[in-house]
Amino acid sequence: MKISIIVPCYNEEGNVLRFYEVLKQELSSILDKIELIFVNDGSRDGTGQKLHEIADRNELPVKTIHFSRNFGKEAALRAGLDHADGDYISIIDADLQQRPKYILDMLNILWADERYDAVACYQGERRETKTLSFFKDSFYKMINAVSEVELYRSASDFRTFKRSVRDAICSMSEKQRFSKGIFAWVGFKTYYMEYQVEDRFEGETKWSFTKLFKYALDGIFAFSTFPLNCICLVGMFGGAIGAIWLLALLILWAVTGKAVSVVCLILAALVFLTSTQLFFTGLLGQYLSRMYVEIKDRPMYIMKEYYHNEDRLEQ
Ligand code: UDP
Ligand code: MG
Repeated sequence: MKISIIVPCYNEEGNVLRFYEVLKQELSSILDKIELIFVNDGSRDGTGQKLHEIADRNELPVKTIHFSRNFGKEAALRAGLDHADGDYISIIDADLQQRPKYILDMLNILWADERYDAVACYQGERRETKTLSFFKDSFYKMINAVSEVELYRSASDFRTFKRSVRDAICSMSEKQRFSKGIFAWVGFKTYYMEYQVEDRFEGETKWSFTKLFKYALDGIFAFSTFPLNCICLVGMFGGAIGAIWLLALLILWAVTGKAVSVVCLILAALVFLTSTQLFFTGLLGQYLSRMYVEIKDRPMYIMKEYYHNEDRLEQ
């Protein structure tokens, strides 16, 4: 049996060596089954060098994938999945906020009950500001109301799953990836396991508010066509109101003959209609721009270097 552990890394030079040591310690009972897949997502610090050091120790099978630039965590996860050939696959961050010991807990759940295909960790106690929590709650309410898949609010991408789940995820070729939606979309029986999130060992989070907001929009546009349907609904509704309004005005004009207020009303109606039209054209543009990116069919990531220490391990 083989367990592939995928670790996306972006500017984690202060964490990767410590992560590796902690992982070896906490997963010592299954170390002979593990392969590590580090994805260096275009780090600008010494992460690449540290990963080479880890691979060169030849203690465990280690694959290191180095991107030509920063493509984002989603692309890093995809690269990891593309190179994962274990019977079980785990995804974990490099900053030790997610302790490797939970991987063993997740595996035990999968081994104990064959019916489960995946285990997803969720944070018991949330370590985020009230404002961020509010925005996240609103996002989940919104996406669950309008999308075809149900997203579990606190579930992270700290997960362990069977190879069949990995194959299903890799069969999805969309470029603007939103992992939480993808995990939900492929289905499979998932066990949700609570875990305690730790403080980052070194460095800072890579997620600014703007990045999170953009990610949330990607999620909504990738998993719901509701905004597009809105255009038709509002168009029909606005059209009907406009027609009734115009008819009422014409009747009123014929009866009272007050021309000036009618001009004002028409102006107001024009402003209202053109602005809603603009808003919805913008919405349409959101889908178009995403289609544009998909049609270009660019690769999700570009690998500058790939190294697998397996040959040296066998010597
Ligand atoms: N990460 C990545 N590419 C990026 C941003 C982040 O590979 O563009 C990695 C990062 O190195 C870490 C994981 O994704 O291992 C989670 O990132 P971070 O800790 O910044 O996110 P948070 O824990 O704050 O959600
Ligand atoms: Mg983190």
